[in-house]
Amino acid sequence: MSQQDLEPLDVEGIREDFPILDRSFDGERLVYLDNAATTHTPEPVVEAMSDYYRRYNSNVHRGIHHLSQEASIAYEEAHDRVAEFVGADGREEIIFTKNTTEAENLIAYSWGLNELGPGDEVVLTEMEHHASLVTWQQIARRTGADVKYVRITEDGRLDVDHARECITDDTAMVSAVHVSNTLGTVNPVSELVDIAHDHGALAFIDGAQAVPNRPVDVNAIDADFYAFSGHKMAGPTGIGVCYGKRELLEGLAPYLYGGGMIRKVTFEESTWAELPWRFEPGTPPIAEAVGLHAAVDYLEGIGMERVREHEEGIAAYAYERLAEFDDVEIYGPEPGPERGGLVGFNLESVHAHDLASIMNDHAVAIRAGDHCTQPLHDKLGVAASARASFYVYNTREEVDKLVEAVEDARDLFA
Ligand code: PMP
Repeated sequence: MSQQDLEPLDVEGIREDFPILDRSFDGERLVYLDNAATTHTPEPVVEAMSDYYRRYNSNVHRGIHHLSQEASIAYEEAHDRVAEFVGADGREEIIFTKNTTEAENLIAYSWGLNELGPGDEVVLTEMEHHASLVTWQQIARRTGADVKYVRITEDGRLDVDHARECITDDTAMVSAVHVSNTLGTVNPVSELVDIAHDHGALAFIDGAQAVPNRPVDVNAIDADFYAFSGHKMAGPTGIGVCYGKRELLEGLAPYLYGGGMIRKVTFEESTWAELPWRFEPGTPPIAEAVGLHAAVDYLEGIGMERVREHEEGIAAYAYERLAEFDDVEIYGPEPGPERGGLVGFNLESVHAHDLASIMNDHAVAIRAGDHCTQPLHDKLGVAASARASFYVYNTREEVDKLVEAVEDARDLFA
């Protein structure tokens, strides 16, 4: 469908599904612009999870009784729904984890610890979240592999020429963020994956800020592994997804061991269950899987192209309004297809934490800090930044409130 065919979002209608947005603080209505940290949960998701607890709460792994059968089916179907949502080839390729961070660790431990060694290189980008950066750093240290970083350009894009220099035949893994949670940059991930594959390396893509906000097709990207979190896409906390190509997952050793992931156990040895259960030991996040299924239904009901268009529109408006201030520095690319639905910035002479605190006095919720990208902040030459991030329920009026609060902060500190 072309962009012109898309009806704009019925934001007022959508807001009715999120009662939390009606909260006020000291008479000011909440303006929630911290969606890159966590999005809110619409009524159909809360309802699906309550229904699970009210009617069929039970452990999975196909117990003999009715409730366990129902819970098992719901849990398995959630994998199918997520697989379909991101273009995977089936539930075997969808492992439920706790979050994106655990998905990174799963692959780093299962694959990295066994496959990496001295002389191997892991190539990351300077805009990686700590979830990927710290994890690969540690696994590299333990295996003797080296870590290299693809530079960012002055305007916060990935330097693809530098990526071509960094990725060589010694590269074993390229791990890159799809959309930067600090700069908002949308990276050319299929290009990176192609470069990795040309050198016989694997590619892990961190989609924590991509899957919630735009259509993602893991097959089209050709990523070997791809991770995201439920709580950033209108779903519950406590559940994340690690997609992996079936043939790769089949060759990986499990990362966590225990019940539910085995086929046969003797006092001497054990064999593993089929995919994806081999990577999901113990009692999994069942209610959360039901909630994630409902979140996917909710987002698809809106349409991911429309979600993207709405967020890009709001982010572009915020960028333009903030760019009117001479003393505001905005990070990352200008509005356009290379910027996602968030804006990171700093107001000269006001620490980002103070700015967030003044915003909070106006009931405007933003995030301030290093956003789990400390090395990137070092590179930007700042200790912290403020970040406004948008979702399907945000409006331009809310951006105006953000801008008013920035003006207020500036008057206070001038
Ligand atoms: N990667 C990126 C790009 C993120 O924005 C985040 C969350 N801030 C994560 C990974 C980690 O997500 P989680 O905390 O859900 O594991």
